Amino acid sequence: MFMRLILLGPPGAGKGTQAQRLVHHYGIIQLSTGDMLRAAVAAGTPVGLKAKDIMASGGLVPDDVVIGIISDRLEQADAKDGFILDGFPRTVPQAEALDRLLQSKDFALDAVIELRVDESALLQRVENRVAEMTERGEQVRADDKPEVLSQRLASYRALTEPLIRYYSERSKLLTVDGMMAIDDVTRDIRRVLRRSGVPMSKFGVRRW
Ligand code: AMP
Repeated sequence: MFMRLILLGPPGAGKGTQAQRLVHHYGIIQLSTGDMLRAAVAAGTPVGLKAKDIMASGGLVPDDVVIGIISDRLEQADAKDGFILDGFPRTVPQAEALDRLLQSKDFALDAVIELRVDESALLQRVENRVAEMTERGEQVRADDKPEVLSQRLASYRALTEPLIRYYSERSKLLTVDGMMAIDDVTRDIRRVLRRSGVPMSKFGVRRW
């Protein structure tokens, strides 16, 4: 399949989980700026040094830094057959930069999937993630703490939520109820994509 998608939603909405499932189902790659930044922090690169404290406090890393990371990543060969952006864009300037980047490559964005969830459920979901990661013996994220979560939510509300309107005005937005069980959310994402005619064979006719 050949798709360029964005997953949009607050922390704990299930973007990462659903992105992985889409990767398996459609055979496209997942590009998570959060994962890339965590790798940069772990490796102690200049980007990582810049991002570390901001991430730990629940703020957003400056637009130019994440735009640079995504721009480099989209240059790589595996991105040309489609991708799912998970956690990018997170601000209107990032969305505008992405539009320019895609345009310069003659790439079209197919859809933005918004995972809509009740805010009251998010803390519990992040607590579940912490418990699951601990059980698997994985290192828990430095920002998966209740006090940081409220800051991450505030960042989402102030800077990321406006993207819902941005993409709705561009007729790209598909909203899915993210409160359902994980399998049901996956099924619904596939259903709304199918309904809007997005999944395309690599050799099929594109709709741009
Ligand atoms: P995530 O794994 O997507 O929840 O991202 C973890 C953290 O990385 C966020 O709370 C931000 O500090 C930072 N981050 C990830 N993606 C972006 C982005 N597109 N813009 C700014 N900061 C980001």
